[in-house]
Amino acid sequence: MLLMVEPLKLALSKGRIFQEILPLLAIAGIYPRDDPKTSRKLVLDTNQADLKLVIIRAADVPTYVEYGAADFGVAGKDVLLEHPGNGLYEPLDLRIACCRMMVAGEPEVTPRSGRLRIATKYVHSTRRFYAERGEQVEVIKLYGSMELAPLVGLADRIVDLVDTGNTLRANGLAPLEHITDISSRLVVNKASMKMRHQRIKEFICLMAEAVEKQH
Ligand code: ATP
Ligand code: MG
Repeated sequence: MLLMVEPLKLALSKGRIFQEILPLLAIAGIYPRDDPKTSRKLVLDTNQADLKLVIIRAADVPTYVEYGAADFGVAGKDVLLEHPGNGLYEPLDLRIACCRMMVAGEPEVTPRSGRLRIATKYVHSTRRFYAERGEQVEVIKLYGSMELAPLVGLADRIVDLVDTGNTLRANGLAPLEHITDISSRLVVNKASMKMRHQRIKEFICLMAEAVEKQH
């Protein structure tokens, strides 16, 4: 009887992470058979029979990997910091999709007295940042377009990812405080790491080499 081994599944989000992981995968000799920009497929074959790519929302990657629906995945540190618990291995910094998590706001405006109101997608990181400084703030959860919040009086400040700062500047905002540097990480399901150790170890090594070659 022919014994079929399930292909490994690598969870990725389309957009920035997919675009930036492609050159690394290519260095490792891995090529997707489809482009999620033009294909509606959510499971992509690669040139390696035992590796498939699963295309999901960036914020869902840790969940898929933690539950073993994907064996491993690529997620921004920003997303991982918001994901509770320690159900994942994080063996490798891929050094792609790099940016900074920052507090931003209107540079000339002194906030109202009383508690600062901070709008953000990154509630956990924001709470932690201000708690460590012993500052009491009110954190307002948003799902996108944080730059709008100070302009319409929803919040005094935002916490968002900043690369060039162009989006902030275009909205009359400026970066004010640096919280942490962000890059994408390889995360691995704990059971997969045990059960498929050899193959996953091999993949991690190939990717680590690719990261070194790219820098
Ligand atoms: P969506 O845009 O679909 O709502 P998302 O914003 O989570 O979801 P992306 O914009 O593709 O998805 O961002 C994916 C990851 O890329 C983020 O989690 C972060 O780690 C990184 N990233 C986000 N913005 C930037 C940026 N301006 N520069 C560099 N990396 C970034
Ligand atoms: Mg986005």
